[in-house]
Amino acid sequence: MQTVLILLGPPGAGKGTQAARLAGALSSPHVSTGDLFRENLGRGTELGQKARQFMESGRLVPDALVIDMLFDRVAKSDCKAGYLLDGFPRTVAQAEALDARLSGATVRALNLSVADAALIERLTGRWTCKGCAHIHHERFSPPAKAGVCDKCGGSLYQRADDSREVVEKRLSVYREQTRPVEAHYRARGVLADLDGSRTPDQVFSAMLTAAQGGKS
Ligand code: AMP
Repeated sequence: MQTVLILLGPPGAGKGTQAARLAGALSSPHVSTGDLFRENLGRGTELGQKARQFMESGRLVPDALVIDMLFDRVAKSDCKAGYLLDGFPRTVAQAEALDARLSGATVRALNLSVADAALIERLTGRWTCKGCAHIHHERFSPPAKAGVCDKCGGSLYQRADDSREVVEKRLSVYREQTRPVEAHYRARGVLADLDGSRTPDQVFSAMLTAAQGGKS
């Protein structure tokens, strides 16, 4: 049976970092709608052009665009046994579209919570690698050489949407449009709440337990 894991939580809660680790541990593809949009932007596709204005201002890309892009991705053969969603669904309409597609699959939603002040510090200090998308942080995980990725030697940049102003907008969009998605999965009895303010290793082990259906 197909197992789909959904990572929920505000921007900066650690979804991307933990999703990459979980995907490795569970041998399941990591599907990030933010990464898919950034790839489209990088390749200059029509979808990328359409998404750009929303992304740069911290708003959500319209549901229809996100849902089509996501469903194309998860139709690929590597997702047959299941996959891990990072950054989707972000609206109740997206969650409903996913439900309709997934009838019969096992779904688990892992909800990371972190206080706003910590989220702002995490996001505004982030440096992302142009080559491999690995994330350094100027305070918590600075690269050995400024501006250079420790992992692949690629150059590091600050995402346009990690500026203070856009981060605050992303957090308010999260509160208004994405918070209700928690209730959607809670009502279905498939939501696990996790404290995302612990160390990355502690959060990872709690997530792995919850992903496998245990109590964390
Ligand atoms: P992320 O890397 O997940 O923070 O996503 C970066 C940006 O991509 C978001 O601020 C949105 O503009 C857009 N985006 C990513 N996923 C979604 C989604 N599920 N629904 C709408 N917009 C999205």
